[in-house]
Formats: sequence, structure tokens, C-alpha cells
Amino acid sequence: MNMQSLESVDNMFKERRDRSGMILGTRKGIWARADGGGLPPISNAHPVSFSLLVAAALLALSITSGVAKPVEPQTQPREGHALWSHPPDAGTSAESVRQFVAKCKRANIDTIVMDIKGMNGEVYWRSKKFPQAIAKGYESFDMLEHLTREAHAQGIKVDAWLVDFAEGERGAAFREHPEWAMLNPDGTTTATETLGVAKRRYPYVWMCPARRPGYTDQWLLPMIEEIATNYAVDSIHHDYVRYPGDVSPEGYCFCDYCLKHIPRYAMLSYETGSSVRFRVNHIQERIEANWWSDPTMIPLDWNQRDRREMADYILNGRTIPGGPPDMRYYFYEYRVHQIDTFVREVRERVRKINPKIEISAAVFKNPVQSARFIGQRWHEWSRWVDVYMPMTYRSHFAGSFEDYLAHLTEVTGRQLEWTRREQPLFAGIASTYLYREELQPLEDLRERVGELKNLPATEATERADKARAISKSYEALRERLTQFAPQREREIGSLVASVVADGSRAATPEAIDKLAAALVQLRRDLPSGFCPPEKLFRAIEAARQAKPDGIVIFAAGNLTIEKLWPTLETAFKR
Ligand SMILES: [Zn+2]
Repeated sequence: MNMQSLESVDNMFKERRDRSGMILGTRKGIWARADGGGLPPISNAHPVSFSLLVAAALLALSITSGVAKPVEPQTQPREGHALWSHPPDAGTSAESVRQFVAKCKRANIDTIVMDIKGMNGEVYWRSKKFPQAIAKGYESFDMLEHLTREAHAQGIKVDAWLVDFAEGERGAAFREHPEWAMLNPDGTTTATETLGVAKRRYPYVWMCPARRPGYTDQWLLPMIEEIATNYAVDSIHHDYVRYPGDVSPEGYCFCDYCLKHIPRYAMLSYETGSSVRFRVNHIQERIEANWWSDPTMIPLDWNQRDRREMADYILNGRTIPGGPPDMRYYFYEYRVHQIDTFVREVRERVRKINPKIEISAAVFKNPVQSARFIGQRWHEWSRWVDVYMPMTYRSHFAGSFEDYLAHLTEVTGRQLEWTRREQPLFAGIASTYLYREELQPLEDLRERVGELKNLPATEATERADKARAISKSYEALRERLTQFAPQREREIGSLVASVVADGSRAATPEAIDKLAAALVQLRRDLPSGFCPPEKLFRAIEAARQAKPDGIVIFAAGNLTIEKLWPTLETAFKR
């Protein structure tokens, strides 16, 4: 038997094992673990002998039954339906929480993933350990307690969603412990970064996952322990469980702790005899093949270098003098290790407190690439995470809506390959980004109006240009608005007319403000049908083609704005 046919036997066996898992199920009723189906696990140590065993078994089966038929599942695994939600969705009264849960129930949601630690570090439970972090308005109303009670009464699970490593620059953690923040080679935090070509200010401070004692072990882990101890949540849900990805994927972290520990983690020198340096022993022809002669990679004057020099060496240095500039490999490995360590610690600590509480995680779409860019090698987390929820949003893809549908199917299939179906995987779809074509004209119009507002009355030519741009943007929006909300089109149309009249020469600040306010209001409360429901249907169907274990939608508040709750009810009908 050649290697190729051995491999195909292994694949056949895996297929059968998965199918048997569907029959046996797990406590979630989805996929069995590889070691949970009563069959021996595939061992890396003895692939050939095991494959032969399987081949013999299949051969015996084909002799007795003629053809080796796959075992048909008796019951189909039920597709999981989760919804990322924010505190305003549930409101601040027992009654509003009840109504929100009822709405989720109608939409066949079986897991509410509720944000309880937001982007600014604010928390939405009545924390005894961190009362200084409690969000305004939640000091006496315990949203999480109400939500778990109401949801469980309806048979719905609650995942407690935490923004892990991003904090607000005015958040309690950074305010009290600025030394816990990630630092770039210049020694400043992510709040000194800007976003986009317009250089928008970035208001978040990322905290160093590595530093101990620090944010991870003094703040985040104790918060998670408090939730696991005091609330009947079903899961802890990781988000932002990584390094920053948009502001500066390679700029962090070069805090004092990391500058010391990156070389230590990769063991680039010895602590015993730390002043001794070993040179490359050139005994192999290829320069990089001499790596195992164990040269000391950290220069003798390391501690005299400043932060920029150290960061430059870690990012651009060479393992072997004369070899490729590969030192940053250790930087990436170190970051992956730090995030892995945190995810493992959460599993261990939560399990100690309440073994019934599971872990779920919002992760980037491609774990191989996210390991390199943001330290998130999530497909290796199956020991520490019970449900993967990759954010396979359209915003993470180039191309048209049709391109996205094809990519969504393909990427979801690849995610199931990457994770080897060791744990359930829910395809994450964000409704808003599906509507790029419908929403862009409105965004453009809002931007143009904002620009006009900032133009002084003396800039007549620029104002005339802006008036033309506003008219053009409105034209792109008008047809859709007329179709779905003719009355609102008339109102906004007349506001636009008053602003652009005579090249905006006579447009008063009040008129511009009135138009801007009307556009804000429109964006907050889109007419029914403005966001075509079929796009959401088709995205869900595209994900389903890859056969994920569930679908998770971002987010409840957007569904309200986009008038898509009835769509979800239909799409998730059982
Ligand atoms: Zn650090």
C-alpha cells in the first residue's frame, strides 16, 4: 500500500469517526471529541500500523457487507444559534431584560453572548473586587444576574463576553496602573497611535498580556474568577484575546518586562555565565545550518541599549550573522505563547471554581495569519476553549458581496480543517458589513456634510465643491430612501436642498446641523427593507454550506437598527 492510499484510509476513518460522533454527541449535542467516540485515537507515533489496522477493519467490513457504507446518523446535530449582544440591548430593568430574552427566544437564539467588559474597561456586573470599573448606570442594577435568570428560564445560555486586552485610556485599569500598558519601541501606548489615512485618534490602551505581576494576573483573571464565582453564566467568552491588529500589528509589546523576557523565552543567551558569548561555529556550508552550534544571539551590551535599539534588534536582527533577518520569529512566538498562556489560565481557574462553566472565543478568521500578526494561534486552543466563534465578517475580506459569500463558505471550511473539528465552531457573521453597498452612500453623505460644516463662509469655491459632492452623495442614497421611506426622503431631501442651494453660500450652521442630525437619526433607525433581508439569508446559507456547528450573529443592536429580527426568526427557524 503506498503512502497516498494510507492517507486516504485515514481520511475515511476520520469521516466515519466524525459521523459516529454525531450519533453519540456531546453535552452540547454537537460533535464528539476525537477521544470520546469509543474508538482509539489516531496516534502520531504509529501512523502506519494504525492505518493498516483500519485498512484491515474496512476490508473486513467490505467483505461482510459488500460495500463499506458510512454509518448514517440517527439524529442530525442541531445547529447552534448565538447572538453577540450589548448591555443597552437588555436595558436596565427586570422588564427590559425579560423583553430582550423573549425577542431572542422568538429568533431561536440559544446562546446570548453578552458584553460585560467593554472597550473602555467598563464592567456590567456588580463587581465587589473592582467597583471602580463598574459602568455608569449599572451601580445598583445587576444586568448579568437578571439576564442569566431570565435566559435560563427560557432555555437560553449566557456567555459572559469580555474585551480581554483592550482598555480605555480613561478606564480604571490604565488610570490606576499605567505601567501595565503595552509599549511600542518609542515607549508610548496604543493611545498615541492613529487610525486610517484620516489619522483618527485611537482611544484605547492595550495592556501587556505578558507582564507579571500586571494586568493579566492582577486585573483580568481576578475579574473572570469573580464572574465564575458569583454568576450562573454558561461560558466565559474571550474577545480581543490577542495583540492589536489594526493600529500597529508589529509594534507591541516592547515594555521593560517584554524586552527582558522575549530573549529569555527564546533562550537567546545563557543566564549562567551571562557575560560569556559563543560565536557561530561554521561547520556547515549553508550559513543558517550552523544554528545548532548554539551561538549566543543577544549581544553583550544588551542592557546598555535603549528601547528603540532593543526593539530594532528583536524585529530586524539575525539569528546567524550573515544569515537572513529572522530574529522577529522569536517575537511572534513569544506573543503567541503569552496569549496561549492566558487562555490556558482562564480554563484552569474557571474549572477550579465551577467545572460546568465553558469557554468560548471570538477569534480572527485565519489562525495561521493571526498567529503571525496578532499572537492569536487559536486553532491550537481546543484544550482551553469549548466553542470557537471566528469573526468571518465581510469587513475582513476584499471584493463584492458575491465574492464574500464564496469566501465565507471556503474560509469556514478551512476553519473546520484547522481545528480538526476538535471543538464546535460557529460561523460569525456581522450583519452591518453585509450592507456596504446600501450604507456607504449614507456614510459618504454624512462625511461630506461634516466637511462642509468645517469650511469657513469665506471659502466660497470649496463650499461650492462640497455642495456638489453632497448633492451627488444624496443622489446615490435617494432612490433607496424613496423606495422604503418616502416621507423621510422628502424631509431629508428638503434639508439637503436648503444646505446646497446656491453652492452652499447661504447655508447656515443651523441648517447644516439640522441635516447632520437627520442623517444621524436615519443611521440609528434605518427604514424597514433598507437593508435587504436576502443578504443576511444568503450569508447564513453560505456559511451553512461548510457545515459549521452553529451560526453566531453580530450583533443584537444592529439587527434592531437594520430591522432584521424577523429575518433572523425565519433563518433560524427549527
Ligand atoms: Zn509587555
